[in-house]
Amino acid sequence: MTDYKEQLANAASFIQQNDHFLIVSHINPDGDTISSSLALAHLLKALGKSFQIVNQDQIPKKFLFLPLADQIQRIQNVKEKFSVIISVDLADRLRMGDIDPLVAEGAKILNIDHHPTNDHFGDVNLLLPTAAATAEIVYDLTDQLEVPIDKNLATCIYTGLFTDTGGFRYSNTSPKVMRIAAELLEYGVSPSEIAEITLETITKGHIDVLKIALSKLEIIEDGKIAWTFLEKKDLPDTILSDETEGIVNYCRNIEGVEVGVFFKETEDHVIKVSLRSKKIVDVGAIAKSFGGGGHARAAGFTFHGPLEEVKALLRYKIKRDEGWSRLGNET
Ligand code: 5GP
Ligand code: MN
Repeated sequence: MTDYKEQLANAASFIQQNDHFLIVSHINPDGDTISSSLALAHLLKALGKSFQIVNQDQIPKKFLFLPLADQIQRIQNVKEKFSVIISVDLADRLRMGDIDPLVAEGAKILNIDHHPTNDHFGDVNLLLPTAAATAEIVYDLTDQLEVPIDKNLATCIYTGLFTDTGGFRYSNTSPKVMRIAAELLEYGVSPSEIAEITLETITKGHIDVLKIALSKLEIIEDGKIAWTFLEKKDLPDTILSDETEGIVNYCRNIEGVEVGVFFKETEDHVIKVSLRSKKIVDVGAIAKSFGGGGHARAAGFTFHGPLEEVKALLRYKIKRDEGWSRLGNET
């Protein structure tokens, strides 16, 4: 793989040599993908370039405070074709959703991402698997392009860093993350406001589904795996997709548990699986073996089949993880 400095230079040339861009974030958008797409929009704006920002799905309400969030369009509402595309926080092309109607023949893609499972689908790839968030890479790109940071750009980058590190708590919270975050505060970012909006505030709908999920939570394998599920009947249309976020953390956070799993039935026999691990099990590799992806400590995939089948398969694969046998033998 080309070294990161060279990738940054190539990505910067890609931006400099083009004028009109389609910015795509991933389906079921999270804080990092939305913030990174908006940070990139601010960056392009500062360079005098034009752009359209799209997502297949609805942007969770809590991220609408981000500057330029009102410019994000649903894919199906955009009728233009683009020759230059930038994807942010997507490990593979499928995570763009139904993007084909917007892609001109021979379109070039710049793939900016931090997932170790990224399959290098771009014509130009800017990939840093050690980055805590894609927003960290967008920060580096801003530096590379010598774009001055203002409060709007700072707010977007900070929100991506903050949400993907779980509020600077996860193991991806590196010295570099903290240095960037500290610098961003100098531009007037409000850390308490961002924390309040993105992490602290919970909706009534979230509490409703959390109650159901906690009542079904099971702890198995000598307390090392905890999992729970929500079926379609538990998820009326009034429950928004981001209102089930965080349920998996209740499983993972239980003392002694290494792997937490949340199964969400989105259609009959279609199950979205969220995986989290504490220290040892590489859930990114496990998710990849099911056609999904993610990071060693946070990953996911979609399974087509019955819940009992995915539970059995997953239990088997977790126990075959190379770190599993060491669990319980540690001091
Ligand atoms: P979550 O469990 O919150 O949906 O996702 C956790 C992490 O796994 C995120 O970094 C997300 O991008 C990644 N992830 C979740 N589902 C999928 C999937 O189906 N495919 C890929 N490649 N990554 C996924
Ligand atoms: Mn991310």
